Amino acid sequence: MKRLGITDVGVYQPRYGLEPAVSASVGGSGTLRFAAPDEDALTMSWEALSRLRQPLNVSEIILAAPLEGLEPRSFSAHLSASGIVTGPKPITTMHPQSELADVLLVSSRACEGAIGIFVDRMRERDPLNAPTGDRAIALSFGEARIAEVAAHVSLPGLTYDRWQESDERADRDPRFVEDRLIAHEGKDVLDLLRKEAPENSQEMLGAVVSVGAKLKGARIAKQWGVPNVWIANPSATEPGDGRAGGLIFALQQLAASGPGSSIALIDLGWGASGVLLVAGPNIAELAETHTTKEPTATYNMRTWLHEHRPAYTANPWTSGSELSREAPALLGLVGSQCVACQNIIFPSNKVCEHCGTFALRPIRLERNGTVITQSIDELYGAPDATVQMVVVQLAGGGQFYGQAVQGLPYWLQIDEPCQLVFRRLHTGSGLPHYYWKVDTHG
Ligand SMILES: [Zn+2]
Repeated sequence: MKRLGITDVGVYQPRYGLEPAVSASVGGSGTLRFAAPDEDALTMSWEALSRLRQPLNVSEIILAAPLEGLEPRSFSAHLSASGIVTGPKPITTMHPQSELADVLLVSSRACEGAIGIFVDRMRERDPLNAPTGDRAIALSFGEARIAEVAAHVSLPGLTYDRWQESDERADRDPRFVEDRLIAHEGKDVLDLLRKEAPENSQEMLGAVVSVGAKLKGARIAKQWGVPNVWIANPSATEPGDGRAGGLIFALQQLAASGPGSSIALIDLGWGASGVLLVAGPNIAELAETHTTKEPTATYNMRTWLHEHRPAYTANPWTSGSELSREAPALLGLVGSQCVACQNIIFPSNKVCEHCGTFALRPIRLERNGTVITQSIDELYGAPDATVQMVVVQLAGGGQFYGQAVQGLPYWLQIDEPCQLVFRRLHTGSGLPHYYWKVDTHG
């Protein structure tokens, strides 16, 4: 395989947790983080992309995310309209159950300047099953600054080698997991990866294994002859579960060990596949982005169940022609600047609201600013949750009026620095609508 360099990494960890009672009921770990109700795969991808060094020079996107009805072209169009990438980019979407190792292999065949985005956000299954947590990671490929995907191995499995997923009550046969997956396929993949390891890489730190079962890593590590085996996402039940989480965890281990250290990522279950990651010279850049933050908001049982229901649809009538006229300026944050008095107006207008001049030019607004004023809306915009409405004085001029993001640790205060981020606004006619919302600064 062509070796794949990872130039830069953007990690997004959402703010919500589960109330302890919910965590206890569904069996999820209390340390897991979850996306806010106004976040989905698109907005989480946007957040991960915005954490890469800007401006981004993107040639194509490899996307491994649950799209939940949003088609890939629309996904690309929103990234482009919101200005996080310039112009719509071709997107290769991976099957929801394709494994991390295989997604990285596909990425290695992409052209220079490709970006890989991995999002974990499972809402299609029973909300009472143990969740695996939500997060997103964006990787820009090119020079091996942060890390290198140095080897890839794939051993496909036949259908009758799978466990039966249709019967929810069926427990996995532990002998199958132990004997076949761990002793046989897992070891094979690890040995093949070791054989392909580049000469300059140090001894392997160990392996991060997705196996869809709760196993003791130490025992497997002994069997495989490596210092560590970590079971990624023990709650994972489907192939593809927790891809972003597994990758973030592996990069975290590399960051702790420094350049030249290597780690294997192995996916077992429906066949086996694996990649070998080797830390690059700039791996230390990742260290601080990976600290786990305390949740600033939590789901109780009612809101957690609500999260798993199809979105409430307001069914507003949308004019196609109006959308095509306004959307680029609204999502692109393009306002009008008056040629006479220099004031900036947003949304853009054909006449200056300050001096009445008709001579206006388009101007792209900045996403940073300060809160001018705010109010708490308990009624109109808030069928499910209280919404804070905020007016922001943007750094380069112009004012923005809109909602605050959901899950803030406190209401935004007057004079507080803030920033605009891309979020889900509502669902209309069965389709998600996105717009800018106001978040705390950094
Ligand atoms: Zn004016």
